Amino acid sequence: MPAERKETKAQKAERIKAERNPWVMLPEILEKARQGFEAIPDDDLRSRLRWWGLYTQGDGGGVYGGEAPYFMARVRLPSGILFSHQLREVAALADRMAKGMGDVTVRQNIQLHWIRAEDLPELFAGLGRVNLTTLAACGDDTRNVTGCPLAGLDADEHFDASPVALGINRMLAGNDEFYNLPRKWKICATGCRAWCSFPEINDVAFTGARRQVGGREELGFSLRVGGGLSTEPFHAVKLDCFVSLHQAFSVARAATELFRDSECLRQYRNKARMKYLFLEYGYTPDSFLAELQDRLGFRLDSGVEDEVPKDAYRDHVGIHPQKQEGLFYAGINVLRGRLTSDQMRLVADLSERYGDGQIRTTGMQNLVVPNVRKMNLKDLEREALAGALRLEGSPFARGTIACTGTEFCKLALTETKSYAEWLVGELDRRMPDFDRNLRINVNGCPNACGQHWIADVGLQGRTVKREGKAVPAYDFFLGGGLGEGATFGRRIGYQAPVEEVPEALERVLGVYANQRLDGETFREFCSRHDDQDLKGFLSGEARDG
Ligand code: SF4
Repeated sequence: MPAERKETKAQKAERIKAERNPWVMLPEILEKARQGFEAIPDDDLRSRLRWWGLYTQGDGGGVYGGEAPYFMARVRLPSGILFSHQLREVAALADRMAKGMGDVTVRQNIQLHWIRAEDLPELFAGLGRVNLTTLAACGDDTRNVTGCPLAGLDADEHFDASPVALGINRMLAGNDEFYNLPRKWKICATGCRAWCSFPEINDVAFTGARRQVGGREELGFSLRVGGGLSTEPFHAVKLDCFVSLHQAFSVARAATELFRDSECLRQYRNKARMKYLFLEYGYTPDSFLAELQDRLGFRLDSGVEDEVPKDAYRDHVGIHPQKQEGLFYAGINVLRGRLTSDQMRLVADLSERYGDGQIRTTGMQNLVVPNVRKMNLKDLEREALAGALRLEGSPFARGTIACTGTEFCKLALTETKSYAEWLVGELDRRMPDFDRNLRINVNGCPNACGQHWIADVGLQGRTVKREGKAVPAYDFFLGGGLGEGATFGRRIGYQAPVEEVPEALERVLGVYANQRLDGETFREFCSRHDDQDLKGFLSGEARDG
């Protein structure tokens, strides 16, 4: 008898999805959870629970590939919108079941760790009480729909696009028609000019645009599709169309259907993102638009010009005026996104005492407290500082983000969260006068959850051999950035054990500080040097000349 063929990864994932819709299984999942981790069937534990925002996690001690009987729970915050009573509940849940901490993520979620199976019913009940959810925060579905954290506040925005982001979120997350997508699906909708939700790396990106029609100005969006990072980064391609505000929902739905029905993407898990329609299946912006319009049943107008921002650096840190006269927003620098439950409560307090109870999360893992009157700014800043939350920071403190790393991520090769904090301290000590914005993104592996491809300095976790032993290290990617002339960071061919990274960065940033041209950014500096030059700057063995 011929040996039975083992399922491929993709076949297994597709079979599990075809068998059951995880979104209708919550009562059953919770019933099993009450009986403990061991009682949860394997396909639910390692697959279907993701549709409820739950991943099994590492053991907190940094064991590669290790799994502990705990969950990470990702709380979904569309467009980063959050209210004080909700953050207070997250803090209470963190105290009860997540060792008193949580992480703000690059898609504006908040993640809790250390959740026991037995705690899941209480977690869902607690979140539900304040209208929060983990629904579709992980899995092959529409992930958190992101947007500008300053939507409705920013004097410079085209318009407040948060109702569109929230509407798309409501339409797709938890909708049974869209529970079985080929893989994760990332959408952003922003009306800001800074593109701080990084449309270039989303599967579908709506960015604010304007046009003149019959002497009148019409607001709408330009549309990009197919962006993504991971191990094969790809910039979203711009489609030649103008999407009116009232068309945005139909377009988001049709693009999601197009992705869902692209059976070719279901063959390999690592090639199941929409970018592969362009990379491997011959799609062009025109052919994609034609197919999208066929599904829509109407044509989108062509010819929209959008303004690509010069630089997509925007950490929202500090105190800034809003479009509303007399009101300010306070951007809190949350180093590597980590908050204690006390800090969550403090931010909730500050937003109630000095703002209007609103809070926003940002794509650089920070928090914003909006709607603060001028007379209250000093008190807010003083009280935040007393809770170790700063409204300022060095370029390194403001620009450094980190993925989850070995502490909880089973795929990680290096520790990232504590490491990022240590790295910032080292760079602050070594280069106290460094005076330019700089994004340093620390990733524990090539999967790029910490977006190392789009940073000035991307650090990708790996191991290197030292005295015959494998030690944790980082690979350097330099010169990435979004906005005008977007580039992915170049892998320079230089690696350093984790403790030698600050030294290497001090060397290359020192050369940049001394040799930069007038107004030159680090990305521009990298683009006028080849890899050998940059490797020489990192290693201290720069070529002459
Ligand atoms: Fe884990 Fe790698 Fe993603 Fe970091 S980049 S969270 S280490 S999978």
